[in-house]
Amino acid sequence: MQKQTVAFSKESSNLFFHILTRCNLRCAHCYINRAQHGETTLPIDTIESWLDIFAGQILDGCAAQTNLIFLGGEPTLHPDLAQAVKYARAKGFKSITIDTNGYLFHNILDKVTPEDVDVISFSLDGATRQTNDAIRGDGCWDAVMTGVERAAAKGFACSMIYTVSEKNIHELDLMPDLLKQLDISRFFIQVVGIRGETRDTDARHQVSKETWLTVIPEVAEQIAQNGTTVIYPKVFLHPGDTFECAARVSHNYFVFPNGRVYQCPVCEDFPLHSFEILDGALVPRPQINETDLFGLDIPEGCVMNKMIQPGNLAYDKTGAPCHKIACCLLKEEITP
Ligand code: SF4
Ligand code: SF4
Repeated sequence: MQKQTVAFSKESSNLFFHILTRCNLRCAHCYINRAQHGETTLPIDTIESWLDIFAGQILDGCAAQTNLIFLGGEPTLHPDLAQAVKYARAKGFKSITIDTNGYLFHNILDKVTPEDVDVISFSLDGATRQTNDAIRGDGCWDAVMTGVERAAAKGFACSMIYTVSEKNIHELDLMPDLLKQLDISRFFIQVVGIRGETRDTDARHQVSKETWLTVIPEVAEQIAQNGTTVIYPKVFLHPGDTFECAARVSHNYFVFPNGRVYQCPVCEDFPLHSFEILDGALVPRPQINETDLFGLDIPEGCVMNKMIQPGNLAYDKTGAPCHKIACCLLKEEITP
């Protein structure tokens, strides 16, 4: 087993492409914000032209170093997702992932092949039907179980995302057994974010620092021992760890149907995006936007965290922060 912090790289990039914001579910912690990102379902010719922009824009036109993730809402609700996937494959993107809530609309598994799609990533927020469906909606557990089974039977590589909160952390230790039964190659643990349409409600239930640091690494090791690679956010930096902002070092683009393009996901509830897509081109936005903030060095680590979700900070008697918050894109990886 090998554990490592995944360093940010200038040599590769990630394109998180929200092709619509519509969804059949209403998860308690949904991070989508339609007031900020629109309700448009992008027409297929727009999706293709935006893929052209990024295939040409990122890393001097090297789509071969860019991982593309199709997102929504629920991306399989888009009737032309299969065409978008095939278009992206022909463009030469390094990898193509579809993130899904498990419902796999429009018979997507019959319209794309494992040669077209590198990974189908399923969201599950509980090891039992009761816990998962209380968070994500009735019927969701069964949809994911059936979806993983069908996708794996067709030869697709499947991964799973588990967003941890106080509502489901007690079931994380049941996941090693469940994952053993499913054909999942990579398991992503996420921290529940304070963003989306329900940002101001108490629906988030983030776990404490102590709980996070005790439970997550232990369960991750158990899962890795069973043969599945586990990836989870570092969140809290230890003394001596170097703070790095991904936006200063690497290339991450979070694209929304209204043309907003962010480099930092923590900003997505605010009109702080670095770029917008206007008349078929990626255009930098005037000051002040997120780009002007990435360079600020503060003792708390991530500047957006302090501005937008400071509840996870603590200070000692001298007023110094007890810990630095890592970039939300900094991950630990344990490989079997
Ligand atoms: S499946 Fe995703 S987009 Fe849909 S409600 Fe849940 S978190 Fe939001
Ligand atoms: S989460 Fe913080 S550290 Fe990471 S890209 Fe955003 S501002 Fe930078």
